[in-house]
Amino acid sequence: MNAGVQRLAILGSTGSVGTSTLDVVARHPERFQVVGLSAFQRTDELVAQCERFRPRVAVVPDEPRAAAVRAALAARGLATEVAVGAQALSELASAADVDSVMAAIVGAAGLSPCMAAARAGKRLLLANKEALVVGGGLFMRAVQEGGATLLPIDSEHSAIFQCLPEDRGAWASRIDHIVLTASGGPFRQRDPDTLHGITPEQAVAHPNWVMGRKISVDSATMMNKALEVIEARWLFDLPPDRIRVVIHPQSIIHSMVVCRDGSVLAQLGTPDMKVPIAFGLSFPERIESGAPRLDFTQLGALSFEPPDSRRFPGLQLAWDTLAGPAGSTAVLNAANEVAVAAFLAGTIGFTAIHTLNARTLDRVTPALAEDHGLDDLIALDTRARAVATELMKDLAR
Ligand code: NAD
Ligand code: MG
Repeated sequence: MNAGVQRLAILGSTGSVGTSTLDVVARHPERFQVVGLSAFQRTDELVAQCERFRPRVAVVPDEPRAAAVRAALAARGLATEVAVGAQALSELASAADVDSVMAAIVGAAGLSPCMAAARAGKRLLLANKEALVVGGGLFMRAVQEGGATLLPIDSEHSAIFQCLPEDRGAWASRIDHIVLTASGGPFRQRDPDTLHGITPEQAVAHPNWVMGRKISVDSATMMNKALEVIEARWLFDLPPDRIRVVIHPQSIIHSMVVCRDGSVLAQLGTPDMKVPIAFGLSFPERIESGAPRLDFTQLGALSFEPPDSRRFPGLQLAWDTLAGPAGSTAVLNAANEVAVAAFLAGTIGFTAIHTLNARTLDRVTPALAEDHGLDDLIALDTRARAVATELMKDLAR
């Protein structure tokens, strides 16, 4: 890394994590230089970000948006170059003038640029959990072989990372298991028999966190926690039976490590993504995040409860797919992306999300070769999406 200034690419800069990242960066102009930004839809926001942070390049998905962004940049006298398409994201993620990549795209669309950053040996700040759920062992090998530094941004995984001993080799022998906390989302106490009537607006109204729509729905089904169990399996190289989940409605304890001797280490803080983002940006140092501080005198009680499998049937799919053939987690992720998009579009009901995920897993059994590559995973993702889309017809409202 450049001594002093960290040169950053933020993939998905217009999203919830992307804008929180820019909030943190803006507090430390002497530490960070924004080299690249990317947006999928909200190009007005992207132009405003370019005006403020003056990146070398901004990436958009297609030519019509590129033309609109180029015109808006020219009108403001900005020199930011506009690049187009998925390949441009991978080029930005591996560019020579980039030290660190914040992966804040939602979904498997973020896998290829993450792999590019990993292979190029970047410091990779991973919010995009779907990329690791799909990429699995291939992703982790790319990190190792490329000499990249992988830092978790997901709050639970940041918490675990902060509680683990610095010596990675000591993890397996010192740790008994980890406990990921889950808020339980907006339907934690809802009668499971009434879940089918839930609307997209109810599902995205998360009690503790402000997030993008896809992860908000995932939190309501607890598929988010299923994806996080899979994410933890790879990040911390833990067997799935050493990863547990507990509901903690206040979202103050972000996760816990239970040591061999029974000692439990936890990381606490207000539920604000700027904390794990600032940690990832500055690790091993600590910088001001701008998040409100935890006030223990106002906190009241912290409570815990086991997840109810009738209310949250999707959670178990994490362990089921991790026990299945390699690629099963990619199939689950693909089905879930299709299902959540259909739910948000009003095509299927809330409980049909789980039904579609389970049926797609029944239908698609991956048969990846031991030495499979990124293209094989992308082909599997495409096939699982096609099957899920087909199966969805039976579930349409
Ligand atoms: P979001 O929907 O708010 O933002 C997503 C970003 O990705 C936007 O900039 C969008 O333009 C871009 N994008 C969307 N689809 C794309 C595509 N196909 N190709 C390229 N770019 C695309 O999402 P978010 O809530 O910021 O979440 C981003 C990622 O971080 C997700 O994987 C999510 O699970 C993870 N995460 C989010 C939070 C949170 O608090 N929001 C917490 C932990 C983890
Ligand atoms: Mg999380």
